[in-house]
Amino acid sequence: MSCSRRSRPTSRASLHLKYPLVPHRSLPTHAIFPLTLANLNLLHSSSPGHRKPILFSVFWPTRSSPAIDSLAKAKKGTKFTAYHLKAIFWTMKTVDDFNFEGKKALIRVDFNVPLNAAFQITDETRLKAAIPTIQKIRKDGGSVILMSHLGRPKEGPEEKFSLKHVVARLGEMLDTTVEFANDCIGDEAREKSAALGAGGVLLLENLRFYKEETKGNEDFAKKLSELGDVYVNDAFGTAHRAHASTAVVAQFFTDKMCGYVMQAELDNAQKVLDGAEKPFTAIMGGAKISDKILIIERLLDVVDNLLIGGGMAYTFFKAMGGSIGNSLLEEDKLDLAKTLIEKAKEKDVDLLLPIDSIIADDFKNDANRQEAKNHAIPAGWMGLDIGPEAQQVFANKIEESKTVLWNGPMGVFEMENFASGTIKVAEAVVSATEKGGFSLIGGGDSAAAVNSLGFGDRVSYVSTGGGALLEYMEGKTLPGVAALEE
Ligand code: ATP
Repeated sequence: MSCSRRSRPTSRASLHLKYPLVPHRSLPTHAIFPLTLANLNLLHSSSPGHRKPILFSVFWPTRSSPAIDSLAKAKKGTKFTAYHLKAIFWTMKTVDDFNFEGKKALIRVDFNVPLNAAFQITDETRLKAAIPTIQKIRKDGGSVILMSHLGRPKEGPEEKFSLKHVVARLGEMLDTTVEFANDCIGDEAREKSAALGAGGVLLLENLRFYKEETKGNEDFAKKLSELGDVYVNDAFGTAHRAHASTAVVAQFFTDKMCGYVMQAELDNAQKVLDGAEKPFTAIMGGAKISDKILIIERLLDVVDNLLIGGGMAYTFFKAMGGSIGNSLLEEDKLDLAKTLIEKAKEKDVDLLLPIDSIIADDFKNDANRQEAKNHAIPAGWMGLDIGPEAQQVFANKIEESKTVLWNGPMGVFEMENFASGTIKVAEAVVSATEKGGFSLIGGGDSAAAVNSLGFGDRVSYVSTGGGALLEYMEGKTLPGVAALEE
């Protein structure tokens, strides 16, 4: 059954009777609300005739959210976090809830694919990901108008950022002719959209050739909306942006919903946040702590082990009084690093820092290299990868985990000589997955590393969204998701 507009206000009101909660989007992330059996009954009885469907179908797109499952099994006195409550109140249609026959679906996809100098696609993961949503709509007898950004054009159209370069490959993947409009708004787009028959596909030129797109301009969004009858957002990677095509456009549609990519992304993130099987290990890497403070703090509430590698680890060693040579350091985050170590202790989380590093005397692949303990990196040298001992300790911890979340590489993996830590971690994540664990890889660089090693199909899920995934996991409301809520 699809989401019902009528049922939500009733059931939300029922919880308000006992707990005068603020609207769900502004719920504090870490708040704990006691939900008693009495309230659960209230929640059920508030929508006569819809007891199970309300909990299992109406409020969650996949019908089997761990959050909802645990709610349904709740015993008296069970405590629920804001995440559970958000899940309860979240109503969002998916493409499975709609018959597209005779409809034109305006789909925000993420076709931001890398192109080489000859304008050939070098990684088609994002194109591939969008196919199931497009095909579902075509199979129903609908037509699709695809809109996306590509790269970061500065001032208007630029050949290297044109989406015309993906038309041929997309046509092969869909086994059909893909029409192309040289401008995402205007007469050509309108005429080509109007001419689409059942199963027809039209791709619009790069949205970011208009600065109105990133500014979230309403007039621009309205013009886009006139191209379709139904709005589908399947671009999770830009869901954290309130752009014209990702959020603003939704207000002009009665029928709006998420596609399969968006649905899978949210489900997998939620699975890790709410339904993680233990032991749960999070691996954080990449360049800076500052990018990941909020997610690390949030994870300390749910993980058993937190492994920290990459450039960010050195600030922790410095904070503990070590010598880190020329390794990456965020001077202003030394206190924060100490606080995180303390918080991990308080929460009984095993925070593991890499004991050693592969150090180099220059930031170059062919620099001189040696191994060193991380508290004693000689002056003039910098840690560019986790060392062999740390690799082994991390791998052991990962392999015995039932849930693994990985964000950010363990070293400067783009340089062959400093890629071994990232490769070893990737192998351990594959091994944990093959033993029956659940693994979620998020972040542009870690996802690229896993895919380039050919491990993409051997982990549970590789997220297409870096920033969007982190923000979702931090508990922030994603404008692209909020715009689809009914
Ligand atoms: P994205 O931000 O694209 O989603 P991510 O979250 O996977 O990616 P980032 O935080 O952006 O990762 O960090 C990745 C960068 O960190 C890589 O370019 C890598 O070279 C760099 N990096 C990792 N370890 C080190 C190190 N020890 N010293 C310097 N740079 C490092």
